[in-house]
Amino acid sequence: MLPEEYLAPYAAHSAGGAGRRYPETAHSSRSQFQRDRDRIIHSSAFRRLEYKTQVFLNHEGDLFRTRLTHSLEVAQVGRSLARNLRLNEDLVEAISLAHDLGHTPFGHVGQDVLNECMKEHGGFEHNLQSLRVVDELEEHYGAYDGLNLMFETREGILKHCSLTNARLLGPVAVRFIDRTQPSLEAQLTNLADEIAYNSHDIDDGLRSGLITIEQLEQVDFFARLWRDVQHTFPGLSGRRAIYETLRRLITALADDLIVTSGALLADAAPKSIDDVRAAPPLIRFSDPMRKDATELKRFLRENLYRHYKVNRMRVKASRIVRELYESFMAEPVLLPPDYQDKSGDVGKQARKIADYIAGMTDRYAIREHRRLFSLDEL
Ligand code: MG
Repeated sequence: MLPEEYLAPYAAHSAGGAGRRYPETAHSSRSQFQRDRDRIIHSSAFRRLEYKTQVFLNHEGDLFRTRLTHSLEVAQVGRSLARNLRLNEDLVEAISLAHDLGHTPFGHVGQDVLNECMKEHGGFEHNLQSLRVVDELEEHYGAYDGLNLMFETREGILKHCSLTNARLLGPVAVRFIDRTQPSLEAQLTNLADEIAYNSHDIDDGLRSGLITIEQLEQVDFFARLWRDVQHTFPGLSGRRAIYETLRRLITALADDLIVTSGALLADAAPKSIDDVRAAPPLIRFSDPMRKDATELKRFLRENLYRHYKVNRMRVKASRIVRELYESFMAEPVLLPPDYQDKSGDVGKQARKIADYIAGMTDRYAIREHRRLFSLDEL
């Protein structure tokens, strides 16, 4: 069977879309989106995800998620959702693996600091940077910059975008201007991301000891699943009890999404991806599940992401990113030659510095900071 024969008419198909910026002939054994996934996996930005922070710094423990394992979990959840809804698994996998390529070292704080530093020069946003990585920064091909990915993959990577940026970006961002929807695969990957981080951040949070089961029991959704596990396995505790609960959590979210979206799709009966674009969002959780998931997110924000120990890491990391940026701006000669801008345009130099810093892994940023500020290290 051809890889895309099982797809619903409203799924993204290799043929019929806007294709690639630089046209390429179809491959005999792989769909266009399989090729995209493969290009992403072979990119250097993808390999760097292994040493970039999700919530916990990479060197804080070998069992915590990194951006890489997070991206793999998103792809796993996303693919099984896609298969159930007869959507394009290959596209979902490609978007999932690429969605965090533009993240700075040290998680969200790196982005926030760079955005502040870049205020006068167009700002910095990790989503936009992910697109920039696949469109411009990866150097793999003789004929062009970037990976020359399919329109649908690029559109899925660009999850959100300001109106100002949308006007600069052209076709890939038009939906933010005319308020239409992206493919169902992009909508789905967005929620697969949420399912993945909600569950793995609980796991990592418990493992780190920064949050406890007792605290989590205040979240109704978690408490119900925890009780269910205790009912099935009386007295079960420790890691097994946590895994049993998180397994149920992922299943509950995924099953709800499949049923809710399946019903919406049956109702709206889109005949093509163009119908999907013109319709309201068709991949969603039910209202009660949306409420549950939002409550869980709020819990994690208040108790884990803003835990004082996480704050300490955040403040330290923001100092490193800011000092790197300021030193390079003041003395561009400190930069590796590829990142020195010879045109004399401050904005262009600032963007190159942002690209350089955003491309760093946590440990590379720490080392680079030391090389700039310590006389003991060169
Ligand atoms: Mg993510």
